[in-house]
Amino acid sequence: SPRFDGRVVLVTGAAGGIGRAVAERFAQEGARVAVNDLHADAVQRVVEGIVTAGGSALAVPADVADAAQVEQMFAHIEATFGHVDVLYNNAGLIDTTRHFLEADEEWWDRIIRVNLKSVFLCSHRAARVMARRRRGVIISTSSGGATRAHRGNVAYDATKGGIEAMTRAMALDLAPYGIRVNGVVPGFINTYGLTDEQLRVREKTVPLGRYGVAEDMTGAALFLASDDAAYITGQFISVDGGVLVQ
Ligand code: NAD
Repeated sequence: SPRFDGRVVLVTGAAGGIGRAVAERFAQEGARVAVNDLHADAVQRVVEGIVTAGGSALAVPADVADAAQVEQMFAHIEATFGHVDVLYNNAGLIDTTRHFLEADEEWWDRIIRVNLKSVFLCSHRAARVMARRRRGVIISTSSGGATRAHRGNVAYDATKGGIEAMTRAMALDLAPYGIRVNGVVPGFINTYGLTDEQLRVREKTVPLGRYGVAEDMTGAALFLASDDAAYITGQFISVDGGVLVQ
């Protein structure tokens, strides 16, 4: 039977980019997938694609940085599928660059809210039910910026460093309840529609010699969610063509 037969997987920020590829792959492997993003129409298109391909999916549009919307989203999933087995925290703002000297409080608060608070809200809501069931997996999305500075990304890098620290701390608190907490570190995954010319220039800096595509993220995501990773918690897997080891 398929690896995720009947498992319930919530992917946040799944209307496009990495989240969509991960949601589609979980569905191909038999999961019942709750598809989240901000806008209902974009979420619905992803759900229709999964269902047309023979998979099972539910549209749960919500702002994952808003506690009331997160509560409604989980209640909707539980009413439909019963529970959540796997939470894949992927939603985030990626277009956040601003030189530190041009920063202001609004910029800082928005990025912290969407990229970091959302991971707390979703993980906390998911973990409370997972703890009662004595099983569950939480996977969150970091960035190379957590350990190596990106120019103009003080706030973004702070959220990703925060996600790595939170992941280790949650892994400890939740281990006695049978919940594993891990993460992925994407790098140079072309979700931003770069031109061929831009790709050729930047590809020279990737040891494996090419840009990643969203589908490159799905192997690590599914591995960490699967029982093959039953003894792994508090860890991150980089999926970046070798960029971070240079
Ligand atoms: P993307 O912009 O295509 O996907 C992010 C999604 O999150 C979007 O669909 C967006 O609408 C959604 N989103 C934003 N705010 C939201 C909110 N409040 N509630 C619900 N959904 C919300 O970008 P991507 O490249 O696919 O990035 C996905 C994740 O991977 C992000 O966390 C990003 O920081 C991380 N990441 C990506 C790369 C890369 O190379 N692409 C590198 C490092 C980290």
